[in-house]
Amino acid sequence: MKKRYTGKNLVFFFDFDNTITTKDVLDDMLVRFSTNDRWKALEERWKKGDIGSRTCLKGQAEGIRITKNQLDKYLLTVQIDPYFKKLLDFLRYNKVRALIISDNFDYILNRILKNNGIEGMEVYSNKVKILEDRLKPVFPYLNESCGECAHCKKTTLLKNINKADVSAYVGDGLSDVCGSKEADIVFAKDFLKNYYKNKKLPHVPIKGLKDIYEYLEEKAS
Ligand SMILES: [Mg+2]
Repeated sequence: MKKRYTGKNLVFFFDFDNTITTKDVLDDMLVRFSTNDRWKALEERWKKGDIGSRTCLKGQAEGIRITKNQLDKYLLTVQIDPYFKKLLDFLRYNKVRALIISDNFDYILNRILKNNGIEGMEVYSNKVKILEDRLKPVFPYLNESCGECAHCKKTTLLKNINKADVSAYVGDGLSDVCGSKEADIVFAKDFLKNYYKNKKLPHVPIKGLKDIYEYLEEKAS
């Protein structure tokens, strides 16, 4: 990583769950800490497009019982993609802005980053209050004029780029579809990769962040 990336002002937007982390943390928490199976029906309705992710996430969070101590203990077990730090160093060295845009919650996300030694990132996510053993979600990046997503990633992306910027989006899931469509380059994993492939839309398929690191190194050399 000796040479600078010679493109325009590149801005990287990272989804969090199953993009930076090695699994979908919220999904995993639902399996482990839900008091009943209601979250499964909500998930199905969201995937079918019957409800937005705000209704889905709010209902799912209500079914979770976990204290702050239990949550902290659980969050210590969450791992991040082994190439995330390397990629972040590469981007920082090349003065590329890197942001996280997530449908997860601030406390959970920031704790995982801290546990894994990652500091100083710009993070846009939902927020949560932990009251005894309940999670109370707050959705500051909802955009009702756009749709029913808990976090309108499209709005957050557009607010964070200028015309001269080249935006890159890295994501894996249904909640990345709208946001990623606004980006100039899409690095797509799992569901998002299949979505772009089926629609025959341009994208860079990835299995993990190593693929992006290698892609950028090749561009920089
Ligand atoms: Mg994700």
